[in-house]
Amino acid sequence: MATHGEQLYEGKAKILYATEDPNLVIQYFKDDATAFNAQKRGTIMDKGACNNKMSSHLFQLLEASGVPTHFVKQLSDREMLVKKLQIVPLEVTIRNITAGGMAKLLGIEEGIVLARPVFEWHYKSDALGDPLINDDHILALNLATSDELETIRQLSHRVNDMLSAYFAKRGIDLVDFKLEFGRHDGQILLGDEISPDTCRFWEQGTRRKLDKDRFRRDLGDVEAAYQEMLRRVLE
Ligand code: 5GP
Repeated sequence: MATHGEQLYEGKAKILYATEDPNLVIQYFKDDATAFNAQKRGTIMDKGACNNKMSSHLFQLLEASGVPTHFVKQLSDREMLVKKLQIVPLEVTIRNITAGGMAKLLGIEEGIVLARPVFEWHYKSDALGDPLINDDHILALNLATSDELETIRQLSHRVNDMLSAYFAKRGIDLVDFKLEFGRHDGQILLGDEISPDTCRFWEQGTRRKLDKDRFRRDLGDVEAAYQEMLRRVLE
């Protein structure tokens, strides 16, 4: 493990540490897993190392195709050096196939291939369960500027286009995913992680789930699913 400074923040799946450079922080990836707003808790063996490796790989891929991210470098199995962000208190979800929250919200079945991607803003609040909000809520509450919303929307669609194609080549449907963005030096950067914790991955053809839904829904073989996704991403 690299040396790091004081702990700045501990979240459900990661810890942030300071470094000697005030512009850089270390994301430490834990094996802890939570679901349903932390009502369900557990551990997924080697999840931290898996998510760090997968996120590092995908962030570099996205950077290369013009999506600015907070990624600087992978420091160790569980540590990623990233640019310090002032987090925009929003979570973006993009959906290509119905599942989870959208199926529940609208009372529709999971697995419907959408005619076009669905973009959602959620207000980042554990206490409220990250409720769905719209542009008016965000602008009226000064959570972000309209320029920032436009940038985030465009970058998110680019991420969807890139990753959908990348995973399709590896026999995986990118069903939906969540992104978080932040401000650094006046620029909007993609932050957080991209992993089976934050995306739904279905094997093409069989629709076998290869993501955190195996933990959320007690489907078993959770560790194996994470390892299989890492192998497919790196192949
Ligand atoms: P849903 O709204 O259907 O629960 O989630 C949509 C997608 O975003 C899923 O791929 C899910 O994993 C991800 N997602 C949404 N909210 C969160 C969150 O608070 N934490 C994590 N790790 N993923 C989330």
